[in-house]
Amino acid sequence: MTGDGAALGLLEGDGLALGCDVGADPHPVNIIISTAPTAPMLRGHLVMAPPLFAVALDSGATYLSHGAHWANLSSDGLPRPVASGSQDLARALIQCGEIREEVLALGTRFGVLTRYRAHADAFDLTFWEAKGVAGAQSSPPGNAIPTVSAFADNRVAREHPDWVQVGPQGQRGDRSTQYFDWSTLCPTRDAVFELALGWAAQAASSRGLRLDDVSYAREGYCQCPACTQAIAADGGAADAFRTERIAQFVRAVRSVITGKLLLTLYPDPYPGHLPRRFGVDPGRLGDSVDTFVVPIYDLSYSTTYWIETLAQGFRDLLTRPFLIELYGLGVPEERLIKAARVAWAYADGVVIAYEKDLAKLQHVRDAVLG
Ligand SMILES: [Zn+2]
Repeated sequence: MTGDGAALGLLEGDGLALGCDVGADPHPVNIIISTAPTAPMLRGHLVMAPPLFAVALDSGATYLSHGAHWANLSSDGLPRPVASGSQDLARALIQCGEIREEVLALGTRFGVLTRYRAHADAFDLTFWEAKGVAGAQSSPPGNAIPTVSAFADNRVAREHPDWVQVGPQGQRGDRSTQYFDWSTLCPTRDAVFELALGWAAQAASSRGLRLDDVSYAREGYCQCPACTQAIAADGGAADAFRTERIAQFVRAVRSVITGKLLLTLYPDPYPGHLPRRFGVDPGRLGDSVDTFVVPIYDLSYSTTYWIETLAQGFRDLLTRPFLIELYGLGVPEERLIKAARVAWAYADGVVIAYEKDLAKLQHVRDAVLG
């Protein structure tokens, strides 16, 4: 557990635990809520860094342990149920607010990103592409979370070629350049910023909003005239300017929506890469973002060690819950199940993207949820 109000999700085997620290020294409140307190990772944590409170929601029973009782840990290292301390615990849980909601929702955090309305009702968590990179807009089914591509839009790029991001050698951030599959738009330009903010505000629902492509295109982007001018006027480093601009956008979206805000990250958890390459600093966005989404796509998932490596990296990096999104279309069911189980073991939930076969999606869900 870390201090300063950070939350940390832990998962071990079939166990599920989430810790929450609230407050500051000298009296931080530390809570662990677990659906399986026998999980080795949790048990080890309890012994190494006992929290003031622990709630074990196991087999339908609720066990409560107060810090004063940790000397009475049972032989297996688990808290004994106690009758006192419930008011203090209730206060602490209230302080944990959103984090507790996340805990309660964790058990059903298997979802899909889909283009099929029939899929929307079949899962507890559904993302719907309300505005994609092609520029087309679509109203999501009632229970789906709209997904909006913010700084990528082929249609707008055709209408405003000067809004496309520019690379360090003057290359355009669109399909005319290798490794670009769509047109990127420059977040520095106020017109682009306001346009994307408008898309977000229009699409957001009470179910929440997921933002994709909230970033500069990659390392060295953007060098368009608007960026050159703005960075010179700012007087600071280009990287710092970009991370502040992205943070400014996320804060602006947060201020105009009421539901949960989810933000998609490029799957690069190596220290410093997200800020330097994309202008995205997750540490600065934690106050605005409820949950991060990390797409880890492959067409076959014939190996999974790299999923594990990336997922572990994000678990170390992020202080908010995160979902791993896997590509489903055309991936053999057995391999998708294996990949999903690996992701499930590290992330706070798993999303399968773009699969058409509803039965296959349900098989994967059932296999992961066990
Ligand atoms: Zn620019």
